[in-house]
Amino acid sequence: MSDFREALDATIGYLESLKRAGVTHVSVRHETLEALSRPVAPPAERAPASTQYAIRNTPAAAPKPQPIVTPSPMAETQDMFAERIRYTGATRAEKMASLREQALVCVKCKHLAETRTQVVFGVGNPEAAVMFVGEAPGADEDAQGEPFVGRAGQLLTKIIETMGFKRAEVYIGNVLKCRPSMPAGQSGNRAPTDAEMKTCLPWLQAQIEIIQPKVIVALGAVALRGLIPELSAGITRLRGRWLLYRGVPLMPTYHPAYVLRAYTLENRRAIWEDMLQVLEKLGRPITPKMRNYFKSE
Ligand code: URA
Repeated sequence: MSDFREALDATIGYLESLKRAGVTHVSVRHETLEALSRPVAPPAERAPASTQYAIRNTPAAAPKPQPIVTPSPMAETQDMFAERIRYTGATRAEKMASLREQALVCVKCKHLAETRTQVVFGVGNPEAAVMFVGEAPGADEDAQGEPFVGRAGQLLTKIIETMGFKRAEVYIGNVLKCRPSMPAGQSGNRAPTDAEMKTCLPWLQAQIEIIQPKVIVALGAVALRGLIPELSAGITRLRGRWLLYRGVPLMPTYHPAYVLRAYTLENRRAIWEDMLQVLEKLGRPITPKMRNYFKSE
């Protein structure tokens, strides 16, 4: 079988597995769509490499481009109107610093800018292979300016370290960069609204674009919905099943705060099984002992 046919079959198989998992839309970047719709000559008829450029530029010889994947109307709308944030710099660290500088003074959500202590931009390695994405900072994160530093954060750090990483080796961020506002005099945290997440999403998208992680881990239903609003199935159904976000494999899993609330062996094992899949995807070492964590107390 040709490489092209193999890649096509693998793509179709992957999309079918998503469909079986209840996924109704995948988001595809315009550049990817354009690349996919460019004509590909079957291997036997392919011209020698030296003349390929000429053939691609001869309209009469090129077959009519056939789009392979059509984005859903929602994905199209999101892509078309999503604000493209600009940043400067030669290295990923410089690009991230340029992005951070702009995000720290963002006032797109007036109500959040007025109530936040500071913007909680994200933390970690701009060259990270894996990026963990939560929903929004809580009171602890708002006070310290760093995501996942409260109780849920401590559990996330433990998970990251059990996977064999240092916290500083990965990247940790949220869909929403400001703490969701609380009514005056009320403590506690609330979940971000879909509208708040949609407004803030371009910052996270730019972070993903800069880091180009090999894997994204979406922590919990709200973060997953913030990233892919088109998904119809819930986190219980989707966790542990690979999705694709802007070309990056995305693993949905439980939010550590949920696991703390429902601290059963089953839930701890579930999140760990998802992390084993992430380690496999990254080609990281997994010992037999690691494979058996949380199988019994
Ligand atoms: N929960 C989140 O989703 N993000 C944080 O930063 C902290 C708690």
